[in-house]
Amino acid sequence: MRAVAFTVDVDRDVNLACQGDVCSISKGGGAPRFGSSARGLELVLQVLEEMGVKGTFFWEGRTAEVLSARMDLAGMMRGHEVALHGYDHEDFSGKESGLPLDRQGTKEALDRGEGALERVFGRGPRGFRAPYQRTTEALLDELRERGYLYDSSETAPLVNGAVSPYLLGNGLPEAPVCWARDRRGRRIVSYLWPYHEGKRPMGDYLELIEGFQEGLLVIATHSWHLVESYCAGLRPEEEVRRGTDALRTLLEGAERAGAELVTIAAHLRRAHAL
Ligand SMILES: [Zn+2]
Repeated sequence: MRAVAFTVDVDRDVNLACQGDVCSISKGGGAPRFGSSARGLELVLQVLEEMGVKGTFFWEGRTAEVLSARMDLAGMMRGHEVALHGYDHEDFSGKESGLPLDRQGTKEALDRGEGALERVFGRGPRGFRAPYQRTTEALLDELRERGYLYDSSETAPLVNGAVSPYLLGNGLPEAPVCWARDRRGRRIVSYLWPYHEGKRPMGDYLELIEGFQEGLLVIATHSWHLVESYCAGLRPEEEVRRGTDALRTLLEGAERAGAELVTIAAHLRRAHAL
């Protein structure tokens, strides 16, 4: 089986962990902003709908609350997978905030995130991706106890063209993003950040997909990244359009390479009898 999951973190614009604060901020202004995330979400969904592809969306709870006041999020997500990405984009490990969340703090962040997603999208079994892809033992154990379908925070190597979900030490399924070597021997991750920051052409990611032969390749991005660059701020319209076209090219390339575009949950149910 050769499946590709296109996944989008829907979180506050250009988020940054903040020293001494559990709640992340948006780069440049301090207080979280959500405008680029909202617009980028519409653009991503347009591409997916044109192609008849279902995506996996890792929602930050607060972003879901804020955007639900101005958009029909439940309608927009119909048919797509809704998963959780924290409530305030918490740095669970405390690596940058300096405030690691203990078991109690972890429970509270998950409670708030789950509450927000239930109010906006309704109940449902969920997957999880940690903000900054930084997990802790307490977080993974809590996800396991709460019956989460999977975590998708790790980065695993593509070995002989294969990468697949696996079980973590505590029994929770992990659907990792992957890394491989490009033709120059440089590490490339199936996370589109370098593309969006002008550090890699989309062709590099097409080659990554072509080198993928077996399992589940998880591609990751952020909705705001189509609209705003981390380093250079808001993009001119022409650049937004180019990025949206490149995304379409990537997904079309995956289909042309013979991969099936699926959500993570659908793949796990089918291939791993979850
Ligand atoms: Zn995030």
